[in-house]
Order: sequence, then C-alpha cells, then structure tokens
Amino acid sequence: MNEGGPFHVGGDPATPPAPRGVGHLRGADPFPAAARAALADSQLRRNIGKATATIRAKRADVVGEVDDWEELREAGRALKTATMARLPELLTQLEERVTAAGGTVHWARDAAEANAIVTDVVGATGSDEVVKVKSMATQEIGLNEALAEAGIAAIETDLAELIVQLGDDTPSHILVPAIHRNRAEIREIFLREMPGVDPDLTDEPRRLAMAARAHLRRKFLSARVGVSGANFAVAETGTLSVVESEGNGRMCLTLPETLITVMGIEKLVPTWQDLEVFLQLLPRSSTGERMNPYTSMWTGVHPGDGPTDVHLVLLDNGRTATLVDEVGRQALHCIRCSACLNVCPVYERTGGHAYGSVYPGPIGAILSPQLTGVEDNASLPFASSLCGACYDVCPVKINIPEVLVHLRARHVEERRATRTVPNAEEVAMAAAGWVMADPGRYAAAQRAARMGRILAAGGDRIRALPPPLSAWTASRDAPKPPTETFRDWWARTRGADDGGHTP
Ligand code: SF4
Repeated sequence: MNEGGPFHVGGDPATPPAPRGVGHLRGADPFPAAARAALADSQLRRNIGKATATIRAKRADVVGEVDDWEELREAGRALKTATMARLPELLTQLEERVTAAGGTVHWARDAAEANAIVTDVVGATGSDEVVKVKSMATQEIGLNEALAEAGIAAIETDLAELIVQLGDDTPSHILVPAIHRNRAEIREIFLREMPGVDPDLTDEPRRLAMAARAHLRRKFLSARVGVSGANFAVAETGTLSVVESEGNGRMCLTLPETLITVMGIEKLVPTWQDLEVFLQLLPRSSTGERMNPYTSMWTGVHPGDGPTDVHLVLLDNGRTATLVDEVGRQALHCIRCSACLNVCPVYERTGGHAYGSVYPGPIGAILSPQLTGVEDNASLPFASSLCGACYDVCPVKINIPEVLVHLRARHVEERRATRTVPNAEEVAMAAAGWVMADPGRYAAAQRAARMGRILAAGGDRIRALPPPLSAWTASRDAPKPPTETFRDWWARTRGADDGGHTP
C-alpha cells in the first residue's frame, strides 16, 4: 500500500516552469475509445471483477467493525480541509524541521524540475541504479523514464510494481498495479524477464512471491540509493511516513546510504497526533486490513541508523492551481486508498488503463484533469455514472460526484470560450430553451414528438435516431413517445373539473 505520495520542489524561481506533465500513460486514447477496447477484453474484465469484488468484501468487513467509522471519516475530512487552508505555513514548518534534523529539502514546481533534482542527487552519488518504493508521485512525473535517460536504472520493489515493470506494462490500479494480471500471466512474465528464475516455477502464489523475493534481495543488498514517495509528512516534527504491506519499502528506506523522497505538497498533516486518524482510515479502506503490516517513519538523519544522506522533494505539479478551485480542491484530500476504484461500476468494467492517466478510477477522473488542466484529460470527468458509490466509501469524504459535475461544467465553459461558432449541442440546448420558455411551444413540440413513434418500427424503443440526435442513440435507446401526451390526457380527462387549466 505504500502509495507514496511524494513530490519535489526546487530550481531557480526566476526560471519559467517547464511544461507540466506527465499525468498520461504512454499512447493513451481518450476514455471512450480506450474503454471500448477494454470492454472487448473478457479476460481483463474477469481479472478485475474478481479482484475488486474480493477487496470490496474485505473492506466492508473491517469497516463494519468500527463503531465510529463515520466520525473518523468526518475527522479525516476536517483535518484535510484545515491543512489545505494553512498549506504554505505548514510546508515552511516542515522544511525547517526536516532541515534541522539533517535532511535536505528541495522544491519542484513541475515534473521536469522534480526529475532534474532526483537525477542530480543520484548522479552525485555515482550510482547507476536505485531501488524504489511504490510511489504514485514518481509515476506522475515519469521519474523512471527520466532516470533511464540519464543512464540510471530504477528498480521497482513492490511486488505488483515489479510485475508491471518486468512486463513492460503500466499500472492499472493505485493499490494493486497488476490487478489486470492473473497468476498464469505473472508466471509467464517472471519466466521471461526475471534473471536466474527457476525454470520449473509454477503459478502458486507462494512460489511466485519466493521468486520475486530472491530477485529483490539481491537488489536491496547492492543498491546505494533508495527512492520513495510518502503517505504522510508531519509538519511539527519533520517526520515522513510510508505505509505498506510487503516490507519491501522498509528495505528501501533503511539499507541504502542515500534516500530521496518525492512528495506531493498536499500530503502534509500538521501534528503527529493527526496520524492517528489516517492510520485507522487508510488500511481498512485500501487493503481491508485493520492496520498496516509495515508503517515506516523517519525524521532526518541518525548516524549509524539508516541512510546518511536524506532528501525530500516537495512537488507542486498542478497542486497549487487545483487549490484555487473551491469545489475541485477537495481532490487534494485524497489519501490514495483506492476504495473508490473498487466500488466504481465503470472502473470494474474497463480497468485502469482506459483512463489513460496515472491516477485511474473516480479519483483519477477528478484529480488528473485538475493537475494537467481540464482540457488535457477532458474525457475523464465523463467516465462516471454519477452513482455516488465512490463518495460513500471515501474515507475522507471527498464528494467525487460533485467534483465530476463541476469539471464537466468547466470543460463545457472552456470549450465555449474558445469557439466562435456554436456546436450542435449548444444549438440543440438553445432550441430546447426557446421551446420550454413558452407553454404553447412546449405543447406543440410534445405533439410533434409523437411522430417519433414511426422510428420505433413496432417496438417499444427507438434504437436509432437521425443525425445529430444519433449521438444520443449511439449508446442508449430512446423511449417510444406515447400516443397521447400528458397534457392532452389531462385536458381530456380532467379539463372540465379544473376549470380548463392544464398543468
Ligand atoms: S478519493 Fe477517497 S476513496 Fe478514492 S482513493 Fe482517494 S481517499 Fe480513497
């Protein structure tokens, strides 16, 4: 579960920021096209459906054990809201505490700056290899690719991330990046890509885990640089924290001489005591566990104990722009538990790759467009049925449907602002507005709509409307209009009783 959440800061403030990126996955199509392809893959749907159902059931069991779960959620929401309101002050405090404890703090405005900082720090050690704790922030900035360009190999040590990396694949889930792979596929990847693996390897989970363990041990013992994200940073103490399930994170955080943590600026909590709330909310919401198997915390440098050169890169990359949006800013409260993915009917059918974004599922649909600019991920806010299941399970009560609708409106407004000629939808809406503004016009339009009965061709639904209305029936049926409108029925059956007033 070591989400990592980190980000960096740094660079000359006078230098204009480099283009922001990297929220997209390689070669990503807009969601509708990618979802269509994913839906055609029955193996993928089976793998994801089975995995999300299992995690959902585990979560429901352990959440049901906590009598004050709703109060805990409310506490998480309130803490995040209060933290965002004081973010500049708290970040300064964090920087002071980390520096006082012997660490080095860098500030990165965007992905390019963050990647340059990490590459420089690794380069200064003379190492050409780093071991990595699973981190969404480093995926967001494309760190592995940036390090590779500098001749530095980044070795993912989280088991699922390792599977994804060896398979030259991309993650499809925040918590379970290889959720789209089944055991047989993982065995095949290990046999093909893992040096020195037993050729008689079976797809038994224990055998697969042992193969990965032997492979990673060699890397842990030889690496001189570790790279992590952070689930939390405590401003009052300068403490960073990673929570995880496998112990791979603990190895990366303690064995190398140099440790570089990339953390999004929103990962702060003001005080040590605030962790009490999140360390209860996160494991139950993510892996369905009562507590994390491994919770690592470190504060600067301690001679003779762990890394002797500790860096923290505080990453903006669109976060301060997100903070400006009064409705959208709640996306920054996310603790990356992935509960919203596991309950989402859209995610369950398409998987994560269809989102074309490092952050998939409902949280990706509201976070990615804000980090990259709404028009860069314009299809994502529409990748939802607005059923609200994500809001119900979110441990920090992010109102995801509210933000989705808000971003859809922003998208429409931004498109409209750049167009000189209205599009078909705008023409249709203007016409509908004109018709509905007058009772007589509305009644006449309803009667005219009865002509549509011809299109139902004897059935009870209209399967295909002519253009431009064909866009509607491309993905849904239209009901066959009734023989008599409600107004006509009312006038015929009740008109005499109510003095001739129609509704
Ligand atoms: S939005 Fe809420 S439910 Fe989804 S990953 Fe973030 S914290 Fe978890």
